[in-house]
Amino acid sequence: MSVVIVGAGQAGFQTAASLREAGFADPITLVGDEQTLPYQRPPLSKAYLAGKTDAEGLLLRPASYLAEHRIAHRLARGSAIDRDARRLILDDGTDLPYDQLVLATGSRNRTLPVPGADLPGVHQLRSLDDANALRAAIASAKNIVVVGAGFIGLEFAAVCAGRGLAVTVIEAADRPMARAVSMETADAFRIAHEAMGVVFQFRAGITAIEGHAGHAAAVATADGGRIPADLVLVGIGVVPNQELAERAELPVRDGIEINTFLATVDPAISAVGDCARFPTRFAAGMSRGDRVRIESVQNAIDQARCLAGRLTGRPVAYDAVPWFWSDQGRYKLQIAGLSGTGDGSVVRGGGDAFSVFRFRDGRLRAVESVNRGADHMAARRILALGRDLTPAEAADPAFDLKALATAR
Ligand code: FAD
Repeated sequence: MSVVIVGAGQAGFQTAASLREAGFADPITLVGDEQTLPYQRPPLSKAYLAGKTDAEGLLLRPASYLAEHRIAHRLARGSAIDRDARRLILDDGTDLPYDQLVLATGSRNRTLPVPGADLPGVHQLRSLDDANALRAAIASAKNIVVVGAGFIGLEFAAVCAGRGLAVTVIEAADRPMARAVSMETADAFRIAHEAMGVVFQFRAGITAIEGHAGHAAAVATADGGRIPADLVLVGIGVVPNQELAERAELPVRDGIEINTFLATVDPAISAVGDCARFPTRFAAGMSRGDRVRIESVQNAIDQARCLAGRLTGRPVAYDAVPWFWSDQGRYKLQIAGLSGTGDGSVVRGGGDAFSVFRFRDGRLRAVESVNRGADHMAARRILALGRDLTPAEAADPAFDLKALATAR
């Protein structure tokens, strides 16, 4: 049985590696459109951006790994799928036969639909190439504007502010990370960033990026303001790379639709990672329904492992607890579970080390931990096991979370 994987990022690479770990001995081809060995993205907005690690430090495995594990790496772009003939057509004119095809195409950054968004000096951050361009730009930047107060924008802002650079963050919502975290966590991060010198403009829109001598020079805001900017980072979210599936007439809706076994409607085609939309009990009671698309390393790795299990004869429904982290200045944020905007909050701890427990329909659904790694680890187990925790217990510093998480 031959397996072809489209996308050589976190999920695609892990699928190949997990197949080999599971004893799969048949051919595996990893098709990737980035001119590099598979690498991790999280450090791009953290240690790599800050110059604390080099490109080799980003690699998911040493350069010799793929050859040693007989994983063929094709530097090409998958451009079409012939489902009847079970062939993946590549943009170099060749095609690859498959018995099982895995779509691990990830996501790409949303672009800013305003004049000037394509000027030199306007950046995004998704790939190693993007990070290299940003590292070079930061070295000579004077005024930095970040569009979007999401995780990547804020991590970038923290690295720049840490170097003493002037950073303004423009955000359409009324607080940072508004879709992803509680009011309590958002406020703490706003205050921490402001203490580093970051200036926020909330409820703000951008009408144009103005240029001077062919380079970004200022950002014009909807209220008539003008913020000097020789470096603009646009971090306004991502869209799934689902076009390959869509052209092959596989169902898509903000992601490639898969079932709990990570298969599309075509039993020979699966999808994993940022590009896939799947049902999960952890989204129960959320306004957007129980199908989600998750952009995280955890999800990419766990889905890849789960899929490798099915492809080697050990099918198990995907049921991993979602978790995520973000490093911003002196704060390490760790999130377990999935929260919605209407969820209630209970805070445990305080100051620079606290956790916010999020409740929905009377049940614990997510925990946001700031500099409290032990809470995060306990929360992952409590959520996985579906243990009951009341808001009063969560808020009680004497209540033993670890005991609840580990009790038999
Ligand atoms: P990707 O890693 O994006 O890989 C998809 C690959 O497929 C890409 O190389 C793409 O070019 C390629 N591709 C797409 N279409 C085709 C095609 N047709 N043919 C061939 N190749 C194709 N997550 C966390 O949990 N914690 C963090 O702190 C964190 N920080 C992040 C910081 C940054 C700057 C970024 C960009 C992401 C961060 N993430 C973080 C998210 C995490 O990196 C992603 O969720 C993860 O990489 C998803 O893996 P993936 O394999 O689904 O997608």
